[in-house]
Amino acid sequence: MILFSNNDAAYRTWLTANPLGFVVNAEKTPTDRYLKLHRAACVHIQDYVGRNPTSTGYIKVCSCDRAELADWALAATGGGWLDPCPTCRPDGVSAADGGPSQSPAPPSRPERSPDDRELLDRFAAAVELLDRHFAGNPQRLADENAEAELRRWLDGADIPLEWAGPNVTPDEWFLITTLYGQRTRDQQRLLIRSLFPRFILEAGRDIRGLTPQVTRNWVFDQEWMRPRLLRMAGILMERGLSMSGYVDHLRALEASATPNDPMPALDAIVRDHQATGWKTLSVFVRDCVGGHCFPIDSRVRKELERHRLPSDPEAERLLVGLALAIGRNPRQVARMFYEAGGVGGDYSA
Ligand SMILES: [Zn+2]
Repeated sequence: MILFSNNDAAYRTWLTANPLGFVVNAEKTPTDRYLKLHRAACVHIQDYVGRNPTSTGYIKVCSCDRAELADWALAATGGGWLDPCPTCRPDGVSAADGGPSQSPAPPSRPERSPDDRELLDRFAAAVELLDRHFAGNPQRLADENAEAELRRWLDGADIPLEWAGPNVTPDEWFLITTLYGQRTRDQQRLLIRSLFPRFILEAGRDIRGLTPQVTRNWVFDQEWMRPRLLRMAGILMERGLSMSGYVDHLRALEASATPNDPMPALDAIVRDHQATGWKTLSVFVRDCVGGHCFPIDSRVRKELERHRLPSDPEAERLLVGLALAIGRNPRQVARMFYEAGGVGGDYSA
């Protein structure tokens, strides 16, 4: 049995020499809370060899004899048990035991939860690298001002829209984000600029002023837009809330987010709308409510892939949960991935 701590090179050498061996991943000061037993060939182990597997808070204890590792765990933690990895199933029969010759379980997709320790480690290591990279240049990560951006875009070189004040109100935000739909930026802008003045004149700049009667001659270019706006008005009327009151309620919900319930505001508005399509609701929550988000575009995807992190469009919720699990603001972490993904440099090496 051999214990590797702050010695990545020696650990890699051992892995290469012992492909049928076993590896315990434990905290630097081992506790019975975390004693993960893997096969050396496990995807969770192999995916990690190029990083700092024994020098970022964890140690690796290795042996070709599982019993030896179990004894170590008991002694090192005063009674701890090894926790076999569900991916590589190191507690099953393997060739090393003289059983039927078989390769380790095929690498399967890791469990997608912020509770997955390996995934969380990988995420934390990536953020640490990015932190180091951007330490000298924090301005690059400043959150862009969503309101100023929106107004610049919609006003453009045309006559400015008649905004209620210097900012963008929750009512204006909801109208505008609903009118985004899945269309080009120019189509969005045209529709918003055509309906915004009517929103002021006919609905008093208040979502609650939108009724079937008021909107009967409004021309939308997607079928679900009118019902979405009317539904929002209905929710506010039922609850005796203004749009700002509703946004306050969403912000209060978001403050209670946890790694396993990372986007409560978005969940609430989707539930309230009984919505099946919710892209524009998520933009509303992101830009007006300031809710948690981890937008994944091609730049962010590139950087996520470099760190072997999930990058499919459904991964946003998981990534938000991972950021919360390490006590970070998901939006700002996403911004780092975005900035790093655009420069083509490899900061993960
Ligand atoms: Zn494993």
